[in-house]
Amino acid sequence: MSKLGLIVAIFVATVLTSRPVFPSTNQLNAAPNDDVIAGIKALHRSPEKEMARLRALLDSNSSSSKRHEWLYLYALGKEKRGEYNEALTLAESCINDVYASSLMQQRAKLLKAKILSRTGEIQEAISLLNAVKQWSMNHGVIQLNIGVLMTLGAAFEKIKEPKLALDNYLSAYNLATQFKTQVPPSHIAGLIGNIYLKQSKFEEAKAYLDEAYEFAVKKKNSVNQSYLAEKLARTELGLSNFKTSERFFNLVIDIAGKNNDSPLLANALLGKGKMLLAQNNKAEVINTARTLFEEASDLARHLESKTIYFESLIELSRLALSNGDKTRALEKVRLAEEVIANEEPGFPHLEAAYLKLSILEAFDNKQETIDALKQYIALNELITESMDKSRVQIIRTLYELDEIEAENSDLKAVTQLQEEKLTLNQQRNFLLAVIAGLFLLLSVLLFLLYVKRARYQKRLERLATTDGLTRFYNRPKILELLNGYLNQLEITGEKFCVAMIDIDFFKSINDNYGHKMGDDALSLFAHTARQLFPKHVDMGRLGGEEFLFIFHNTEERQIYDQLDNFRQLLKTASSNQLSKDITLTFSAGLKTIKSLQTTTAILENADIALYEAKETGRDKTVMIKCL
Ligand code: GH3
Ligand code: MG
Ligand code: MG
Repeated sequence: MSKLGLIVAIFVATVLTSRPVFPSTNQLNAAPNDDVIAGIKALHRSPEKEMARLRALLDSNSSSSKRHEWLYLYALGKEKRGEYNEALTLAESCINDVYASSLMQQRAKLLKAKILSRTGEIQEAISLLNAVKQWSMNHGVIQLNIGVLMTLGAAFEKIKEPKLALDNYLSAYNLATQFKTQVPPSHIAGLIGNIYLKQSKFEEAKAYLDEAYEFAVKKKNSVNQSYLAEKLARTELGLSNFKTSERFFNLVIDIAGKNNDSPLLANALLGKGKMLLAQNNKAEVINTARTLFEEASDLARHLESKTIYFESLIELSRLALSNGDKTRALEKVRLAEEVIANEEPGFPHLEAAYLKLSILEAFDNKQETIDALKQYIALNELITESMDKSRVQIIRTLYELDEIEAENSDLKAVTQLQEEKLTLNQQRNFLLAVIAGLFLLLSVLLFLLYVKRARYQKRLERLATTDGLTRFYNRPKILELLNGYLNQLEITGEKFCVAMIDIDFFKSINDNYGHKMGDDALSLFAHTARQLFPKHVDMGRLGGEEFLFIFHNTEERQIYDQLDNFRQLLKTASSNQLSKDITLTFSAGLKTIKSLQTTTAILENADIALYEAKETGRDKTVMIKCL
């Protein structure tokens, strides 16, 4: 039973320690540092060279396991160049590449979302971003998470939801300051500052833009520096720090001029003009501002984006109007209207229409003024309506975003529930298996116990029915068997023979050789009988040196001969094995039982025959025919 205890202990210990160990999903992998990161850095350092290298690799190794990485980097390069269609196809190839790891697939998905957001497919971009966000959070890849948050911010900026954009940018900024990743927090600070600037929250804008600006200076990135300086110039203007604002504008004009960055230069010239006008209206200032606006408009005329050109024209028109030069004012505003004629009606149209109305009013031309007023009113209605429409669109996007998030969290909850259920099931199955195992073990033990008990029982029974010295049946057993055969005879008529045997002059062996020799003689008698007679002959010791044999045939002659044979064997065996002076013989009374009678009667009759044998010289068998 101690073995069983040990086995049970082992089972219990196994059950207790077999609770599934959940993988730690929160293990943080802030910034994966692999070949791709190296590739991104190379793309940043020398884009042309790296793109050529990637193109060559992609062209010559169509089945490389690294192909998805090159595809991704090449897509990244294309996206940077603004070749969005190609970048999108490349990103999709990377997502579908069989070798791509899940991290690579998520990176490519992020890139795809970035492109979709750029090309205006905001909804698709947002749902893709949500999926990547989920993955990056589950896998603790902070850098990817930051990328998602920044792209979400850009997408929300695009649909004119600065508050949501700001939320995402701020989360990204916090992560980037907390964990060391490849994304410098200062870069995100620039994006945050820009939104605050747009919201006219100049204090906040200044704090973030300053950080971004200082980083650009430190990194000697003149493009970023000038871009941020322009924002800072406008921020300082908002804070009425005219001197600082002017210093920044001048800096931008200087750097943008050197870098041949016409859009930025035009923007800075325009901004500086506005800044000067905001300070005072002295003729000198107005002249400088006009020159700046003219320069800006000249530069901006050739640019792809018409915003600065339009704004410069409006500013020039306003200056002309305030200067009393109505013709020039009208000329500039009409030009401005032409510039945006092909664009969807919006605030610029309204601004131009209002300015035109003011000029015409000043001209005192009634009909034209009325026409301009009608145009203004119609435009106003149109814009309000389209604004409502776009507002509805935005709300719908947000609503769908909420729905996606709700779905995601529902799905997550369901998955978690299923996982828990699965774990519980596994634990339950394991316990059931253990119980079944224990049950089986118990059954086996019980069975073994039963077998052992049965054997013991058999042994006990044998002990109770066997004579110790001769290992013949003892008296009660042989008499019980005899009784059984008599019952059988009554039912089936099956006849049998009995022989009562008594060893001759046995007492003298005891007397001459000792009791031990007597015992040996009894053993030899039994041993020899067992060798000679078949198994179905029942042999029993009635007591002392007296025996009863039961034969299941009625061939008396045959039995008689067998007994003679036994006698001969015993004689040789005894003189060989006991002592050469001992010749063991026996007398027997043989009787066939053909009809029903009592055991006592049988024994008495057999005894009579035996007595006759003794009387007539011993060492013989006497048969009784009758009865
Ligand atoms: P007979 O030929 O007339 O049968 O002579 P006998 O000496 O064999 O007969 P008797 O009945 O006078 O003697 C039987 C003896 O057997 C008496 C007893 O001491 C002895 N005896 C009985 N059981 C045992 C036994 O288990 N072991 C030994 N050693 N002797 C036994
Ligand atoms: Mg006797
Ligand atoms: Mg005797």
